[in-house]
Amino acid sequence: WSSTHFAWTKELEENNKRVFGNHSFRPNQREIINATMSGNDVFVLMPTGGGKSLTYQLPALICNGVTLVVSPLVSLIQDQIMHLLQASISAAYLSASKEWSEQQEILRELMSPTCAYKLLYVTPEKIAKSDALLRQLENLYSRGHLSRIVIDEAHCVSQWGHDFRPDYQNLGILKQKFPQTPVLALTATATATVKEDVVQVLGLANCIIFRQSFNRPNLRYFVWPKTKRCLEDINNFINANHFKECGIIYCLSRMDCEKVAAKLKEYGHKASHYHGSMDPEDRAHIQEQWSKDRINIICATVAFGMGINKPDVRFVIHHSLPKSIEGYHQECGRAGRDGQLSSCVLYYSYSDYIRLKHMVTQGVVEQVTSASRGGSSQEQALETHKENLLRMVSYCENDVDCRRLLQLIHFGEMFDPSHCAKTCDNCLKELRWIEKDVTNIARQLVDLVMMAKQAYSASHILEVYRGSVNQNVKKHRHDTLSLHGAGKHLAKGEAARIMRHLVTEGILIEDVKKSENMYGSVSSVLKANHKQVGHLLSGKHNIVLKFPTP
Ligand code: ADP
Repeated sequence: WSSTHFAWTKELEENNKRVFGNHSFRPNQREIINATMSGNDVFVLMPTGGGKSLTYQLPALICNGVTLVVSPLVSLIQDQIMHLLQASISAAYLSASKEWSEQQEILRELMSPTCAYKLLYVTPEKIAKSDALLRQLENLYSRGHLSRIVIDEAHCVSQWGHDFRPDYQNLGILKQKFPQTPVLALTATATATVKEDVVQVLGLANCIIFRQSFNRPNLRYFVWPKTKRCLEDINNFINANHFKECGIIYCLSRMDCEKVAAKLKEYGHKASHYHGSMDPEDRAHIQEQWSKDRINIICATVAFGMGINKPDVRFVIHHSLPKSIEGYHQECGRAGRDGQLSSCVLYYSYSDYIRLKHMVTQGVVEQVTSASRGGSSQEQALETHKENLLRMVSYCENDVDCRRLLQLIHFGEMFDPSHCAKTCDNCLKELRWIEKDVTNIARQLVDLVMMAKQAYSASHILEVYRGSVNQNVKKHRHDTLSLHGAGKHLAKGEAARIMRHLVTEGILIEDVKKSENMYGSVSSVLKANHKQVGHLLSGKHNIVLKFPTP
């Protein structure tokens, strides 16, 4: 597909320069365009910032007829349309939020034999719920004017993805109704399971798949401990590395967004918060201020970002733990879309995991999606959430392996860590490490959890293991347990690391409880997963971990 000898090649290259102002194609763009223009169904996996939009906007411009683009968010669509209109490409969109009369106008234009639109954007619920739209599309199709169907953010089709949207599940209808129109499915995030799911739901039987490396060489990755001075640390980091540059700080809750933004303003930054409970006008205003560089730091929940097209975001900071590796990779991907060096810093604390897990269980985490599911699929979704979280914890806990390697493994990609060239915190350490078999310590920790009747927190168990005689230990008479002090010879942090490994491997389970006191704080007790513990105690499961040597 890389050949330059297609009937449209000259026109393609000309328009890429003249209309879009690009001097060349980015990796895979030409190949994808050639494949879809040859009439194939195509599935594209390309990291954020890779240049997916061009792969359908350029064909839309030079093909006869209208290209239908299904896209999940109105803000994202508006942003795209603004860019298209700037390039004098005629485009329109239909969504539930648009006035009825305006929608009728657009549908009428579609019917006209001289229809000017090159692209028609719709939200997925329009396909699910608007018969008028489907009739119009049938009409276009029968006249041979439906030139291409594009499914943007195609991972939203899949229940296994991190951003499932129920309306996307109906999109299979498009291939059934319009079998001759090529479909182009685009996403920046998909594991092998998600990809299979998307291809199956959309009915893309013989599609051509383009898969681009998810490595983003211009991004630097750091995971740093989150301390009480986190906001000071963030301020110092920005001042030292990205003074007056543009960045996003992702926060867990709406309140955190406001707190972090207020503090950064105090420090003298042009910062603002952005979250789901602000009214749409305020949000649109902030987004505009940000795109015009009047605000340079946005403190936001995950609601901010999908479709953010700002090329010069120099840093993405996670003020707390992201919900999944996929989500994390995508959020980081909003930095450095122009290819320039940019930083991704994650401030990690284990207590954020406990907090987030509690929020996930209560269903109060802000989701980009408004998915409403019931019964067993809801339970399954909860399990997927918890598992995704644990993987994220284990990513943060890992202080040895290359961050790129850890992320890319998740997407089923191979990566040689020497190519990281010291652009992540772990590769920068230049530490040597040794592998240690810690099975015995792990068994003792599990034993201790059982001795304490599975009713105490991880930090309490660690205190007992390391021989503390603090008030709490004495009160519960845990200084009389046979394993009290059994781990006192271990270096500080070593037992904690093994304990966390037991949790991320599912051998011990953190049972999160919201306490009844007035602060409603969250605490947790450790329980044993009996099946897994059985494997550990019977010697079927050995635990080997890497530890840095001094
Ligand atoms: P994605 O949708 O994959 O995240 P976009 O389509 O938004 O990425 O493109 C990201 C940025 O790259 C945009 O600013 C776009 O104008 C720019 N871009 C895309 N293709 C090219 C190209 N061939 N040459 C130069 N810039 C490009």
